[in-house]
Amino acid sequence: TATAEHRSFEADVSRLLHMMVHSVYSDRDVFLRELISNAADACEKLRYEAIGKPELLGEEPKLAITISTDPEAGKLTIADNGIGMSHDEMIEALGTIARSGTRSFMERVATADGKDGAQLIGQFGVGFYSAFMVATKVEVVSRRADSAEAWTWSSDGKGEFSVAPSPLEEAPARGTRVTLHLLEDAKSYAERWTLERIVKEQSGHVPVPISLITEPGADAVALSDGAALWTKPKSEITKDEYADFYRSVAGQYDEPAATIHFRAEGLHEYTALAFVPGARPFDLFDADRKGRIKLYVKRVFITDEAELLPRYLRFVRGIVDTADLPLNVSREMIQDSPLLAAIKKGVTSRVLADLAKLAEQEPDTFRLIWDNFGVVIKEGLYEDFQRRDQLLGLARFRTTASGEGWRSLKDYVGALKENQTAIYYIAGDDASRIASSPQLEGFRARGIEVLLLSDPIDSFWASTAPDFEGKPFKSVTQGAADLGLIPLLDGTAPPSAETSEKISALLASMKEILAEEVADVRSSDRLTESAVCLVASDKGPDRQFERLLSAAGR
Ligand code: ADP
Ligand code: MG
Repeated sequence: TATAEHRSFEADVSRLLHMMVHSVYSDRDVFLRELISNAADACEKLRYEAIGKPELLGEEPKLAITISTDPEAGKLTIADNGIGMSHDEMIEALGTIARSGTRSFMERVATADGKDGAQLIGQFGVGFYSAFMVATKVEVVSRRADSAEAWTWSSDGKGEFSVAPSPLEEAPARGTRVTLHLLEDAKSYAERWTLERIVKEQSGHVPVPISLITEPGADAVALSDGAALWTKPKSEITKDEYADFYRSVAGQYDEPAATIHFRAEGLHEYTALAFVPGARPFDLFDADRKGRIKLYVKRVFITDEAELLPRYLRFVRGIVDTADLPLNVSREMIQDSPLLAAIKKGVTSRVLADLAKLAEQEPDTFRLIWDNFGVVIKEGLYEDFQRRDQLLGLARFRTTASGEGWRSLKDYVGALKENQTAIYYIAGDDASRIASSPQLEGFRARGIEVLLLSDPIDSFWASTAPDFEGKPFKSVTQGAADLGLIPLLDGTAPPSAETSEKISALLASMKEILAEEVADVRSSDRLTESAVCLVASDKGPDRQFERLLSAAGR
């Protein structure tokens, strides 16, 4: 029409669209999950806004998602009576990429080969734009809950979209209607059985009821009742139901590695349903390191920014629902609420306790979790001193004795050599380089296990000098090694640390020549084959930490 504005997609959107449409894509079904999840989000946003402004609900207080199809015309529509979008919101939301995770996802796809790229898309929730995997044209008509205007957004996904005012009689009374004109080879998405199957598989647990109208004029059939899964007793929930819920709440496509579902009673009452993902979420290493646990109050979604877990558990996905907060709590007030601090403490303890139990009972599963999230959990070793012992108990390490496996500190301490008083570690960026470091010679020759710490985070916590079961951590690149009391494995007498006159003279002249370069030159029982190595002084950072500090310009 004359009043339509035409706009170009942001460059990143065009790239994403191109990638989605052109990758050999096997699982296109996910587009429906994305559109349903947007519809459910919109309903939850309205439910929340309506707490303060009940008039927003007007004559339609029941929130619902309706899928309708016209198989003849090859059309599929997903409608919700949620919050809707204004003109500006539409342009912002459906013309740019808002999610930070999407950007890092695209970087990964860009560096992967075609086929891996397609698989990555499958693992990642690509959002609204995934509609173009199955549609030649997408039309979105939306009316915001507080607005007397409606707008139509439309695009063929080829670089441009248009936005025009929509006559009110053609718009939903409230909310959003997304219509897909299906591609020739995607017409099956207008068929009842396909839709029923996909909704059951992927969206059976979104907290808004979903119904289906199978052809123009037909009655709606209920596909899912929108009951909140977490309110059901554990014994009535199947593994598949948990997994479906996990996928809808986490926006991931994998299986959860661990499910933690409990109800806290007593002083504070709340229900938590949390999952440890089976694969790394894409935003795991985002600079803001925020978690995404969703806070509900009496089943009303409030926010996913309440930080209900410490940052080192940010990979955990799920919800907390409590009746102890007022529904009209503002998102700002939430940050300072003592109740939420108590919930955070309770959920954190439970997650750590369940991980510890898993490590005992299902070591293979725990191993997978540690492979994926160990580096993140280790951030807690210097961020959460109160739980450091507990975290050290969970932590797993590569050591000179572990091979490809992981060793716990309990294993390490259980295998201490007689007269060994410390837990030794070596830190560096390259696992295989540190494993072959000459500084380990004296330890190897004595059969003393050394932790091989190759994550950047390791130097930070290790340098805060913790101990485990009374044994201090000690860097092998720092200070004197005092291994004299521990015999060599092959029975030969250890090289004497007592220095002959000749050696003293050598050390003295080396010190003189190196003058400003070193603090000290001394003989050591750290080495058995190499002649010399560099070590840091007893006080202050070890060698690796020195390197990191100087790289950071400190
Ligand atoms: P995400 O859902 O992760 O934000 P999407 O690409 O799925 O990313 O959606 C982008 C944005 O478009 C949403 O954040 C929302 O603002 C808007 N949007 C999409 N679908 C709807 C809808 N049915 N109702 C209201 N807003 C919507
Ligand atoms: Mg979405």
